[in-house]
Amino acid sequence: MNPRHLDSSEWFTELADEAGLAMSLRHRGRLHSEQSPYQKIEVYDTEGFGHLMVIDGYVMLSERDNFVYHEMLSHPVLLTHPRPRRVVIIGGGDCGTLREVLKHPEVTQVTQVDIDERVTRVAERFFPELCESNHDPRAELLFEDGVAWMAAAADESADVVIVDSTDPVGPGEGLFNESFYRECRRVLGAEGLLVQQSESPLIHLDLIQAMRAAMSAAGFGCLHTLQFPQPVYPSGWWSATMARARGPWPEFRAGDARKLRTRYYSAAVHQGALAMPPFFGAATGQSDEGSAHS
Ligand code: SAM
Repeated sequence: MNPRHLDSSEWFTELADEAGLAMSLRHRGRLHSEQSPYQKIEVYDTEGFGHLMVIDGYVMLSERDNFVYHEMLSHPVLLTHPRPRRVVIIGGGDCGTLREVLKHPEVTQVTQVDIDERVTRVAERFFPELCESNHDPRAELLFEDGVAWMAAAADESADVVIVDSTDPVGPGEGLFNESFYRECRRVLGAEGLLVQQSESPLIHLDLIQAMRAAMSAAGFGCLHTLQFPQPVYPSGWWSATMARARGPWPEFRAGDARKLRTRYYSAAVHQGALAMPPFFGAATGQSDEGSAHS
């Protein structure tokens, strides 16, 4: 049998050099490519996963599986807060997280701050279903640097901050450090909740440890990382980390979770996602007791 090789004209490949890993999707062609003032944005027409958005060579989302990521970044944190009214999304330019946040009737105001307007314009064209709530009167879309925006925001002016960022390279780098988290802590006050996508528990454990240490140093005394599958990201296994100034975690609003129309998230999935494996607990100190906030 002939060995099979990847022909780079047919396959998009993301290299995860840090893990000696590459992830490929076969495509029928590149539909879009542009260099914005901040980053290179591309869209491929893949065979198995629909449209695929790539920024600076890193997969952002695919049409087929983005619902898992967007639902898990928004619903667990919103249903852990007793009354989330004012929500801030940092990044999130594809607008999938925004759409999920706006499913919560108690949310009265969502401010999305993405540095790059071009990401949203490209999403409107190639992922229109994610942008269907962009004109909701509760939503405000700003195009500026999330680090500077957070530093200028008023004390205790948000109930939930969702950091839906690119990886910690390029413009996303400043969203992963103590000084940014300190501003988030100030803007959230004592009762607010932060959540940030926190990469792969398997291949980015050192990054998760550093993020958690920076969040703790910034005054978030109570952290909980949750997990979910994400087939198009390197390793296929992803996480988000929730943070609060201090414990105990508010009781999770399971009754309201049952009212949401979702494809991946459910009250039972929420409970399961909070349980992390022993190797993760050993590396981070997160105990199973954390999941008692369900
Ligand atoms: N789900 C994706 C992932 O984890 O790969 C993230 C998707 S979303 C498209 C990431 C967004 O973060 C991009 O639109 C990018 O412009 C934005 N971003 C990066 N750095 C930023 C910053 N400093 N302030 C605001 N937005 C930023």
